[in-house]
Amino acid sequence: MASTSNDVSTVTRGQLTEAGRPSDVYGVENWGSGYFFVSEDGNLAVSPLRVPQQSADLFAIVQQLVEERVPTPFLLRFPQILDDRLALIHRAFRTAIKEFEYPERHLGLYPIKVNQKVEVVKRLVESGRRYDYGLEVGSKGELLVALGMPLSDQALIVCNGMKDSLFLRLALLAEKLGKSVLIVVEDPLEMIEALDLAEKLGVTAKLGVRVKLYSRGSGKWEESGGEFAKFGMSALMLVRTLEMLEERGQVSALKMLHFHIGSQITDIRRAKRAFKEAARTYSKVRQMGFDVDHLNVGGGLGVDYDGSKTSSEFSVNYTIQEFANDVVYTIKDVCESEGVPCPKIVNEAGRAMVAHHAMLVTDVKKVIRPGMESKYDLDAMTSEAQPVVELTDIAREINAKNFREYYHDALQDREDLNKLYELGYLNLVDRAKGEWLFWYICRQAVKHSKTAKQRGEEFEDLDRLLASKYVCNFSMFQSLPDFWAFDQLFPIMPIHRLAEVPAERGILCDITCDSDGAVDKFVDIRDVKESLELHRMREGEPYYLGILLIGAYQETLGDVHNLFGEVAEVSVTVGKDGAVSTEDLQRGDSVREVLAYMGHETVELRDALDLVLATRRESGLISTDDEREVMSTASLVLDDYTYLT
Ligand SMILES: *Cc1c(COP(=O)(O)O)cnc(C)c1O
Repeated sequence: MASTSNDVSTVTRGQLTEAGRPSDVYGVENWGSGYFFVSEDGNLAVSPLRVPQQSADLFAIVQQLVEERVPTPFLLRFPQILDDRLALIHRAFRTAIKEFEYPERHLGLYPIKVNQKVEVVKRLVESGRRYDYGLEVGSKGELLVALGMPLSDQALIVCNGMKDSLFLRLALLAEKLGKSVLIVVEDPLEMIEALDLAEKLGVTAKLGVRVKLYSRGSGKWEESGGEFAKFGMSALMLVRTLEMLEERGQVSALKMLHFHIGSQITDIRRAKRAFKEAARTYSKVRQMGFDVDHLNVGGGLGVDYDGSKTSSEFSVNYTIQEFANDVVYTIKDVCESEGVPCPKIVNEAGRAMVAHHAMLVTDVKKVIRPGMESKYDLDAMTSEAQPVVELTDIAREINAKNFREYYHDALQDREDLNKLYELGYLNLVDRAKGEWLFWYICRQAVKHSKTAKQRGEEFEDLDRLLASKYVCNFSMFQSLPDFWAFDQLFPIMPIHRLAEVPAERGILCDITCDSDGAVDKFVDIRDVKESLELHRMREGEPYYLGILLIGAYQETLGDVHNLFGEVAEVSVTVGKDGAVSTEDLQRGDSVREVLAYMGHETVELRDALDLVLATRRESGLISTDDEREVMSTASLVLDDYTYLT
């Protein structure tokens, strides 16, 4: 698709107060951070620079893409959101520096591992040039990417992680490219290796050391900080490293102290304690005669996925500005009291930089309701089988007063039903009727339990069991790996029909043949929801859902479970007048591509099919037409999208 301006009209921010304020059902106002809101038309809208006039209707964009034969699932990227996040983070530090009269500057880094997609890295580099934004890398490959990017002259490239000699060599040779690369060493041996290699290559090594802090982050990822963290030097090792530098007479090689207490810091107090400890270590190292001049406070800046603005697992109890203020103020305070010059402040926000810029669009292929696969008429229900007769009576008479007792009776009848069937005393049709009646009673019981004073856990569980299963065209393993592996939640909602009160509750199932492939936990402002408010499907009408804030960490951790491959993606830009342009369409993986990825040669496959068909044709079992039809169908499959089309 070429860059086109279409006629998606500008939408204005409107509060839908009628019919239960549908915009609040999904909490968009809470987690949308100004980028997403519900339009007056009841559709989800995006405002990538947080300017209300410069916004676009996402439902219209999705419809247009589908019309242009981009099937779901696809990823929408909003490059302008990347610009906005980067500016927001940098300006927060600049504001804090001004406010606290901090004598040094801020140098931001984007950690490539958080989203390595070329369009993301390029966009951030482009948009960060004016602020001397740099890159943080953790492998040879990432370093190569960083070296090829048009960073400004002042920008830093920081190398973390385990390094082999080729990684070190490339990092040191970056000097020849005029790039400022800092190598963060993990232990004294790595440091010696780097220094020796630099001597051999005739370049100056610029080193950083990563220190372990006693303070940890908070929340889900806090294990990556603290004393027992995988990375970083203890005080013991740090002192040994400093001594070795002194022994070699290369005190000036040390340029940066670095720490990272883990991703998604939920509680600002924890972060503050870490900044304090780090600033203290910086000061002590300075006092030992090292003129290290950069203090890298790592990443960890969190994203408010549930919109609660609390220290809950999926939220943060601070703003970007507060975070920056605390970094700048704390460092200045400690340096002043220790009587050392303030360092340049380096930070590596990854999640907070890219999470908002991408959303997945999927559509519901079918809805499964337990016990509603076929419909019987309760009034006309007849049967000779005793349990079915009893269930019929219960179903007819259950009410708000007797629902508990009648539900328990129904449980007994269902057990009898199954036992009779097992012993051969019941036919299949009676069993089906019994099942239908049982589920009908369950639904009635849940309905009545909602009006009861004491509902009871039993009916809450039952309510969950009765949730409809909305089967959506996507693979959780490919597109939401953190949900599967770490229970990370993301906001999920329909992108249209938001002016209608959703009449159902359901969970989402993906199309993999894996019972783990379901989303059954949802963000909520107070708690975690176990089902999502959803609309009834309308005959012949698509129902699109958006999974939002998935720009961080989801794109490279995903796998090809069941051979569902990478999804299609497109970049969406919203002009000043609200005109939408869609660019950089990438068709997701075809079946051919994922097969090749797993080592299946498509030529070999074709030959194998050919051979079988030829043999069967020669034996007169099939015609040449049959042969041709099988082969052309196979070839259509090879070139098709891996998802339902
Ligand atoms: C992953 C990582 C980051 C990014 O962390 P976020 O929590 O995503 O901001 C920053 N620094 C280092 C060293 C990392 O490994």
